[in-house]
Amino acid sequence: MPTSLGIHHVTGIARNAQQNVDFYAGVLGLRLVKKTVNFDDPDSYHLYYGDELGSPGSVLTFFPWPRALSGRAGVGEVAVTSLAIAPRSIGYWLERFVTKGVEHAVPTRRFGESVIAFKDRDGLQLDLVATESADGRGHWSGGSVPAEHAIHGVHSVTLWEHSLERTEQVLVNGLGFSKLSTEDTTTRFVIGDGGASRIVDVRVVGGFLAPIGGAGTIHHVAFRAENDAAELELRNTVIGLGMHPTPVIDREYFHSVYFREPGGVLFELATDAPGFTVDETLDALGTALKLPPQYEARRAEIEQRLAPIHEPLMPPLLGIHESDTVTS
Ligand code: ZN
Repeated sequence: MPTSLGIHHVTGIARNAQQNVDFYAGVLGLRLVKKTVNFDDPDSYHLYYGDELGSPGSVLTFFPWPRALSGRAGVGEVAVTSLAIAPRSIGYWLERFVTKGVEHAVPTRRFGESVIAFKDRDGLQLDLVATESADGRGHWSGGSVPAEHAIHGVHSVTLWEHSLERTEQVLVNGLGFSKLSTEDTTTRFVIGDGGASRIVDVRVVGGFLAPIGGAGTIHHVAFRAENDAAELELRNTVIGLGMHPTPVIDREYFHSVYFREPGGVLFELATDAPGFTVDETLDALGTALKLPPQYEARRAEIEQRLAPIHEPLMPPLLGIHESDTVTS
C-alpha cells in the first residue's frame, strides 16, 4: 500500500498580495516560485513560495483576496504552520523579527525542539522550529536572508481537533503516518523517521471555538503522492475509510484530490510532478504571471483586474514596516 511522502504544501488566505510578497519573500526570504491566478477564481492571484525549486514539502501558497475579512483559527482546521530552520539560526531570526516588526513570542520547547511562534501581517499563526533535520532540506539563497540562516521548507502543521481518534485513523490508515508520542494535548504523527515536512501534530482542543474562514487562516494542507498511480491508490484507501474525495484535478504544477477528514480539516493529495518548471525555467520562476491554458485567451482582461505586484521592499530601518515604505 503506498503512503504519502509527507507534506506537499500548505495554502492560506491573505488580504493584500503585495503585503504577502513583502512578508514571505521579503521578511522570510522564501522564493516566489509561481505567480498565477486562483484556477477557480481567475480574478485573484495564487502565489507560491518555496525553496529554489519549489520542492514538495517546501511550499506555502496564498490566495490574496482584497475583500477578505479577517478570519480566526478554530477547531477543525490547520491552526499553525511550522517552518524549519537550523538550530544555529534562532538568534538570527529573533533579531530579524524585532527589526522587521514581526509579532512573535519568546522561544519555547516542543517535542525536544526550540520553537518561535510568530504571525504574518494578516495574523496567520506560524512557527519557526529549530531542527537538526533542516539542513537536509532545500532552501533559497537568492533572497535577503543569508543562506546559513534560510528557512528549509515546512516543518509540520498543527491541526486543532475536537478529538483524536477519527483523524488519527485517516492519518495512520489512510496516509501512512505513524503515531510518535504525545506531549500535553498534542500528539505527533510522522512519516518514516519524521523530520522536517514529514510531521503532523494533532492538538485536541475539545469544544474550542469554531474557525472563521478569512484572511490569516489556512485553507488546506496537501500531502505528497509520489506519482499519479500512488495518488489513485491513496484516494481509494481514504474512500475505504469513509471519506468522499474529489476526482483528480489538474492544477498545472501537480495533480490534486481533495477531501475533508472527519474532524473537518480540508486535506489534499498532490503529486510531486510535474512541478513548477513545467511552464517557466528554473532561473525565471515566479517572475511572470503564468496562466493555465483555459485562461490564456483572457490574459489582458485578467491582468487588468489584478493589482500589479513588485519585488519585496526591504527597509533596513528598525520599526519601519514594508507597508509604510510603499506609501512614503
Ligand atoms: Zn493545495
